[in-house]
Amino acid sequence: QSQEVSQAHIDYHVALQALQEHGTRMVCTGKMHTDRICRFDYLCYCSEAEEFVFFHSNSSVMLPNLGSRRFQPALLDLSSVEDHNTQYFNFLELPAAALKFMPKPVFVPDVTLILNRFNPDNLMHVFHDDLIPAFYTMMQYSDLDDEARLVFMEGWGEGPHFDLYRLLSSKQPLLKEQLKNFGKLMCFTKSYVGLSKMTTWYQYGFVQPQGPKANMLVSGNEIRQFARVLMDKMNITRVEEMEKDGGSSEDEKGRKDEYIVLFSRSTTRLILNEAELIMALAQEFQMRVVTVSLDEQSFPSTVQVISGASMLISMHGAQLITSLFLPRGAVVVELFPFAVNPEQYTPYKTLATLPGMDLHYVSWRNTKEENTITHPDKPWDQGGITHLEKEEQERILASKDVPRHLCCRNPEWLFRIYQDTLVDIPSFLEVLKEGMKTKPSVRRSKPASTVHPGRVREPQCQTSVQTTNEAKLTVSWQIPWNLKYLKVRELKYEVWIQEQGENTYMPYILPQQNYTFSENIKPFTTYLVWVRCIFNKNLLGPFADVLMCRT
Ligand code: UDP
Repeated sequence: QSQEVSQAHIDYHVALQALQEHGTRMVCTGKMHTDRICRFDYLCYCSEAEEFVFFHSNSSVMLPNLGSRRFQPALLDLSSVEDHNTQYFNFLELPAAALKFMPKPVFVPDVTLILNRFNPDNLMHVFHDDLIPAFYTMMQYSDLDDEARLVFMEGWGEGPHFDLYRLLSSKQPLLKEQLKNFGKLMCFTKSYVGLSKMTTWYQYGFVQPQGPKANMLVSGNEIRQFARVLMDKMNITRVEEMEKDGGSSEDEKGRKDEYIVLFSRSTTRLILNEAELIMALAQEFQMRVVTVSLDEQSFPSTVQVISGASMLISMHGAQLITSLFLPRGAVVVELFPFAVNPEQYTPYKTLATLPGMDLHYVSWRNTKEENTITHPDKPWDQGGITHLEKEEQERILASKDVPRHLCCRNPEWLFRIYQDTLVDIPSFLEVLKEGMKTKPSVRRSKPASTVHPGRVREPQCQTSVQTTNEAKLTVSWQIPWNLKYLKVRELKYEVWIQEQGENTYMPYILPQQNYTFSENIKPFTTYLVWVRCIFNKNLLGPFADVLMCRT
């Protein structure tokens, strides 16, 4: 009965009158359909037509008012996957006067977030495409709080991970299918439509082969903040906290409690010698090895185990998204079946190596064909190839490397990625040991500061002419305002000098707050000078206003 939208909190006649008089109001952010999120008053949904409806009245608002560009190709993306032609959102238009001839609307009082889940059957997609984007979309709009209602319009059933979607708010999310239960016409008093794409880090290869997104805007910090909130909601006690509370020294007690997690798949893409792998790992690292499996235990219990692990080992696959729950400093080891190049399938590598995620990523690939078990007779979506022409089957069987390809039905890719693997222990341990050599010790070194310098203050220049072809240019400035509150390991300044009219400049790195330049400085010439501060080698500040210096 939690699906019932209570009508008690709103005065029906007031709401109906408001809709009739004011119609629908829409104000959006974003210049393009791919970066747009819209907020509506009185957006309606007609379950018979399966369409959203915008009611025009004298006081309705539609911003942006795109005219028919609204269909080129759509108002916005309803999922976080960019410009996917099955995920577009638009609405039908009607005059508010038409309401007189329509079924009585049912009003939804909750502030509602309307979106498409992209692939709710797959755990990686659940997190990357839906949960994290919805979490940060809700954070962006303060009225999308714990009482917000989520509506999933992609048209799928709950799916195996619906409990995770339930964690986003205290109200039961609604599926498209359930909207009919509210009558023929339902109107959302206040709603947001669309998802933020700010947090996504991977593109699945619809227009070019899959890979990290071109300009990533998320850091490990935001992923970890999300993970922490989710763990709190699942009532998982974090290991970091237990250590702090216990007050025991990390080196003494912590070390002894360290363990490795092997993520096991039980239906496809198997590790055929898990027991042997576990023995070898325990022997090599002198640590406990624990196995987890999505097929055999609850998701919260899996996360509980992973959140305390020093190392997570798994065959490539959606379950590796759980590495976002690993503690800082942990190692992620991803295994790839024969003929699959780890460099071409990097959703988990990209996650682990986000700045501030502080995970160490290592991949291993089966290079021994005799150690792979193929499944040519399975259905095509589990990598079967017997439906293909004989020649094509033979080509695939002879190939030792899946060539780059687009999503999502490349039979050679599916054939190879659904192989089972007998992990060659010596080569695996070798790769692991080699990969661990470059592992920084996060426990010891505090995570690096990410505080950037402010602008240098009071930049000035003084000039003097020495001879007809010699001149001097002295540039000085004050420290950035925020420096006095910070401990900075290394403080440097960068000065760019450009002769007016030229299109190149000379860059200089300086440790002090003033410098007299005489090389390459000509008399009776105007120079443009930029100064900025740099903390710890790579934290660049902004340039101060350009100085015009005439010798
Ligand atoms: N899955 C699983 N055990 C298995 C095979 C799959 O738990 O033996 C889960 C997997 O983690 C994912 C979903 O089932 O959430 C779909 O798996 P699929 O192999 O299609 O996708 P992939 O893991 O390659 O992303």
